Amino acid sequence: MNASSPTTIDVTLGARSYPVWIGRGLLGDHARWRTMLRGRHALVVSNTTVAPLYLERVAQGLDGLDWSSFLLDDGEAHKSFANVERVLAALAGLGATRDACVIALGGGVVGDLAGFSAACWMRGIDFIQMPTTLLAMVDSSVGGKTGVNLPAGKNLVGAFHQPRAVVADIDTLTTLPVREYRAGLAEVVKGAAIGDEPFFAWLEAHADALAARDDDAVAEAIARKVRYKAGVVARDETEQGERALLNLGHTFGHALETAGRYATLLHGEGVAVGMLLAARLSERLGMAAADDTARLQRLLEKLGLPVAVPAGMDAQQLLALMRLDKKNTAGKLRLILWRSIGEAEIVGGVAEAQVLAVLHEAIA
Ligand code: NAD
Ligand code: MG
Repeated sequence: MNASSPTTIDVTLGARSYPVWIGRGLLGDHARWRTMLRGRHALVVSNTTVAPLYLERVAQGLDGLDWSSFLLDDGEAHKSFANVERVLAALAGLGATRDACVIALGGGVVGDLAGFSAACWMRGIDFIQMPTTLLAMVDSSVGGKTGVNLPAGKNLVGAFHQPRAVVADIDTLTTLPVREYRAGLAEVVKGAAIGDEPFFAWLEAHADALAARDDDAVAEAIARKVRYKAGVVARDETEQGERALLNLGHTFGHALETAGRYATLLHGEGVAVGMLLAARLSERLGMAAADDTARLQRLLEKLGLPVAVPAGMDAQQLLALMRLDKKNTAGKLRLILWRSIGEAEIVGGVAEAQVLAVLHEAIA
């Protein structure tokens, strides 16, 4: 693969449709993405880790425009309302008009906050996602969920606001720490586990190449996950149904992340363990076969992802955290489980005793 032949995947949403470009050298392929800017104003939102590495490549493409940049400090804690206000102030400082464009250069934190800011400025202006983490390329940059955290909880405020384009330059992954890379792989596995068995088999066959961060394998994995997610989003943009399946492993995973005070597990790592617990629960409820759980565990292990509940966590505490999940209704647990690899479904009214049994078994 080279800069002249990116993979293009279209997210088909009528007037709000947009391309996702995946390939090498795309940040420097100015002719391609510059066509997405309609006006004279652009604001690049990035952070203090990513900007020194990649802002210059983007800046060269903004020649002749009125543009500036706004850098967040690094970390989830900075996905805050206070920083939205600062981004909006930066747009005001530019004199940004309705045809201005916000460019999000960074991981999911930058993308979520920049996208939400774009949704707010003059009730919604264009933004372009330039994801630089694997997680952002395969997950957060596609689908139009934007938002920020409140002290009361993660992602409590947000808007659906689709980008004009997603520019996924896989060259940026060369500087991504290996733990972040693997956490992104968990969200790739998740897509396959939910609804694409052939993709899951492909991941099994290419697990060594992916663990070794082979360019071609990585690009193909990103493209297949994005194609899967784009399909789901096109059918259910605002999560009235099918899109909820993308939360496979997330109820368990969020509980694990929270129990570890967000310092023990990265989100993707929580999702990896969470998917495995969901598979075991599916097995216990007689929905799925033990073979599928075993395949999932082997794949996660090969990709260097955790498969065990971290030491010191308590089953009752995890269950209590799971009760807080947004998907629950009227005191009943609602979980994403599976019938087999590639066949996930939403299951309501799951008995807490069964969940607890799975947690006890995992912790014993
Ligand atoms: P992140 O944005 O914090 O990035 C992870 C780390 O990698 C950061 O320290 C960042 O500075 C660094 N980094 C980014 N790109 C780099 C590069 N190329 N080289 C070196 N370092 C680099 O985390 P993330 O995992 O990308 O995203 C997590 C966020 O995404 C969360 O806030 C989550 O809520 C959100 N999210 C949103 C959606 C959605 O649909 N909108 C979906 C999934 C996750
Ligand atoms: Mg996730």
